[in-house]
Amino acid sequence: MGTPLIELRGLQKAYRLGDVDVPVLKGIDMEIHEGTLLALMGPSGGGKSTLMNILGFLDVPTGGQYLLDGRDVTTLSANARADLRNERIGFVFQNFNLLARTSALKNVLMPLEYAKRRQSAREERAWAESLLRRVGLGERMDYQPSQMSGGQQQRVAIARALVNRPKILFADEPTGNLDSKTSEEVLRMFQELNEQEGITIVLVTHSAEVGAFAKEAYHIKDGLIVGGTYTEK
Ligand code: ADP
Ligand code: MG
Repeated sequence: MGTPLIELRGLQKAYRLGDVDVPVLKGIDMEIHEGTLLALMGPSGGGKSTLMNILGFLDVPTGGQYLLDGRDVTTLSANARADLRNERIGFVFQNFNLLARTSALKNVLMPLEYAKRRQSAREERAWAESLLRRVGLGERMDYQPSQMSGGQQQRVAIARALVNRPKILFADEPTGNLDSKTSEEVLRMFQELNEQEGITIVLVTHSAEVGAFAKEAYHIKDGLIVGGTYTEK
């Protein structure tokens, strides 16, 4: 299968509370291969978001190793992590995290402000518009979050996550605030992006129904991998 896009070896995370270390991730071994749609599943409090934040360079581990494309990225500087995050990674959150009183188009363009390689304003706008059409919001580009449904807001967030052409998309409980019909639409969108654009996706969820949309799954409980299904669909 070649070098995994991501490999974790004995990854640990402990939080310092007062003068005790509270272990949250207790030695995670994991491989994420390019092109997969992987569900990270398990009960609330098990460490899924902590793990995803480390995978996405929003947080750092306190032990073990994180290899990205075979390169050890465990001990990178904060700046180097921020660069990798901007260039390689897209995030989608449960609560959409859109800027209020800001159009869908401007929300999608926003991460480009922090990109190293910029295109002309006209090219960037055309790219953001194409992403909004890609997620079915071609007619809503000027709408603000408060003028859109939850499902539409999450699709803006997905377009925004794609604007820097990431290799990997992390979605933490992306349907947690959506009704079941809208959830299914959003999950189908992830499947399409995975199948048609080849984007590697990690979907964090406590729900088996949501996990069923993935090609494979890791189950995490109390900070440990307790099982998984690794069948390629
Ligand atoms: P999940 O996403 O699976 O629900 P989390 O990763 O959010 O789990 O949390 C795992 C555990 O880590 C929980 O017990 C939580 O209270 C604890 N935890 C998460 N973030 C922090 C933090 N910043 N400081 C201390 N404990 C934390
Ligand atoms: Mg969580």
